[in-house]
Amino acid sequence: MGCTASDVVAAIKAVADVVAEHKVELTQLDRAIGDADHGENLNRGFTAVLAALDGATPETPSAVLKTVATTLISKVGGAAGPLYGTAFLRAATATAKSDELDAAAVVAALTAALEGVVARGKAEPGDKTMVDALEPAVRASSAAADDGGDVAAVLRAAADAAASGAEATIPLVARKGRASYLGERSAGHLDPGARSSSLLLRALADVAAR
Ligand code: ADP
Ligand code: MG
Ligand code: MG
Repeated sequence: MGCTASDVVAAIKAVADVVAEHKVELTQLDRAIGDADHGENLNRGFTAVLAALDGATPETPSAVLKTVATTLISKVGGAAGPLYGTAFLRAATATAKSDELDAAAVVAALTAALEGVVARGKAEPGDKTMVDALEPAVRASSAAADDGGDVAAVLRAAADAAASGAEATIPLVARKGRASYLGERSAGHLDPGARSSSLLLRALADVAAR
């Protein structure tokens, strides 16, 4: 019924494809308010993730997520690598006991991922970071599960909320990360990490829907 390890591998491959497709866009966003490397950073990380998953077939969803985490942490520098790495690591821990992920387990994984990002980066909603996409996504996913939604519904709700949350970073003044060095001049630009979080969740939702 739920998502098996091979479903999670398929989802991560879809994420890697989306990151590759949007590499230039993510880097352009980072050029405006950062150092123009967000797309390259994530693409390098997920290319390495694909190689790691090619070499070994983890047996549980948690083991797949852990492979993603350790690869991102070791291959991606800057802010986003450790933040996404921590997110996947916490998601792996939250799902450690499940051979298959149901809707509740997906919500638990997303919740743990957000908690990891916040623990590591100390950003609050409104600081113009990936948290502005992830926090509403977690809330929406939880509400969808409470309404009896399945994995696809939970991830669709998360992706929709993340997309709105990312768009809502445009007028914000950054208070965390490199963009915060710009002060008021960071306003008027979409946060690259919020955009990548929204793209990741959309990729997961699209896989779950098929
Ligand atoms: P770097 O800024 O080190 O070059 P990236 O360009 O890969 O790293 O990632 C930048 C993104 O990381 C930002 O757009 C923002 O969403 C996210 N980010 C930066 N600092 C934090 C933080 N403290 N908490 C959450 N997200 C952060
Ligand atoms: Mg950057
Ligand atoms: Mg950088």
